[in-house]
Amino acid sequence: DSLAGDLDRIARELDRAHVFHSWSAQGQSPQLVVASGRGCRVWDHAGREYLDFSSQLVNVNIGHQHPVVVEAIREQAELLTTIAPSTVNFARGQAAKRIVDRAPGGFEKVFFTNGGADANENAIRMARLHTGRDKILSTYRSYHGNTGSAIVSTGDWRRIPNEFARGHVHFFGPYLYRSEFWATTPEQESERALQHLRRVIEAEGPASIAAVLLESIPGTAGIMIPPPGYLAGVRELCDRHGILLILDEVMCGFGRSGRWFAFDGYDVRPDLITFAKGVNSGYVPAGGVVISDEIAATFDERVFPGGLTYSGHPLAMASIVATLDVMESEGIVANAAAIGETEIGPALAELAEKHEVIGEVRGEGVFWAMELVADRETREPLPAAEMGRLKGAMLERGLLPFVQDNRIHVVPPCVVTAEEVAEAVAIYDDVLATA
Ligand code: PLP
Repeated sequence: DSLAGDLDRIARELDRAHVFHSWSAQGQSPQLVVASGRGCRVWDHAGREYLDFSSQLVNVNIGHQHPVVVEAIREQAELLTTIAPSTVNFARGQAAKRIVDRAPGGFEKVFFTNGGADANENAIRMARLHTGRDKILSTYRSYHGNTGSAIVSTGDWRRIPNEFARGHVHFFGPYLYRSEFWATTPEQESERALQHLRRVIEAEGPASIAAVLLESIPGTAGIMIPPPGYLAGVRELCDRHGILLILDEVMCGFGRSGRWFAFDGYDVRPDLITFAKGVNSGYVPAGGVVISDEIAATFDERVFPGGLTYSGHPLAMASIVATLDVMESEGIVANAAAIGETEIGPALAELAEKHEVIGEVRGEGVFWAMELVADRETREPLPAAEMGRLKGAMLERGLLPFVQDNRIHVVPPCVVTAEEVAEAVAIYDDVLATA
């Protein structure tokens, strides 16, 4: 026991001394040690257990350490751990086939990347080369990754210190709870958000715009389910002006929304689809772009000026094949849809009735947000210090939450059970009672 406790302490010391962390001032090093995991739970070295309702960075869709996927990675590691992207590799072809089989008709090719940012980076590159235009339009309430164009496409604060890429324009997407358009119904929000986008396109010059880049359901920015007609309306605007539509499915794809792709729930067909996270639950870093036949044909004779040493890395590919197979055979996407509808949605609605601090709950599948407010009338966000305190209280009770701005994102693995939802909801309930 004391040895295990020592391991936690030593892990923290090594981390503090030598690990440089993402998006943080390095003086505030993380305290939570995670040594192992299984399903929806993780443990530190000393055996302290946490129920993971974050899926880490909303990516561990099949839960931690799925034995079939771990075994597939082990088998691939014994066969061939790595190979150049310019070779033919069976696992790579299989992974690409598994992905396009879940995409709409007319998507036959996949370009593999290391993660979500470089997926968007390369989708943007393809859109620019295909159209011969420069500008990329994306929303202020978005996150698209931390590389050159992806971070400048991003709308949130992380863009601002990184604005070195050119050709990016931002607009407001629909968000009824905090409407930019003085809307009071989803229909109004949809119509007015489309009118706003139409004006931005006209003002920017339609012939200068290569693509509109959107998360099908904005994730980090607050899990805003698109209102009726919005995505179809964006498609229509794009078509009118020869603009491509890139849908970022990095967070919302592969089961999170209760569907293979989140956009499957809406009347919209993108030109490029970017993915990462849930495609293999992050067991090995991977992402990519699913390319429509029309755009793929642009590069039949013309060289695609982009590539990565690890594009289609065998360990990542084997983990994608096994992940998509177990998601299918174990009905994991169907579970996400059902549990959202019968357990998470109703439980969060009940919490919202009970706790004044909840301004709104919204979501679907295993992709939900509770928006916390200091005042229900003014909808003033709950202050950061109070959010921090609530996060600490949840961790104290053994729940690993996903806290973003003034929201708690309820984002467990797609394999979550009704019992685990009840366990988490009891902790939310307890902690929100103190807010
Ligand atoms: N796109 C979306 C919608 C995301 O949520 C993220 C990561 O959170 C990314 C892109 C970037 O992915 P990665 O961190 O794998 O580069």
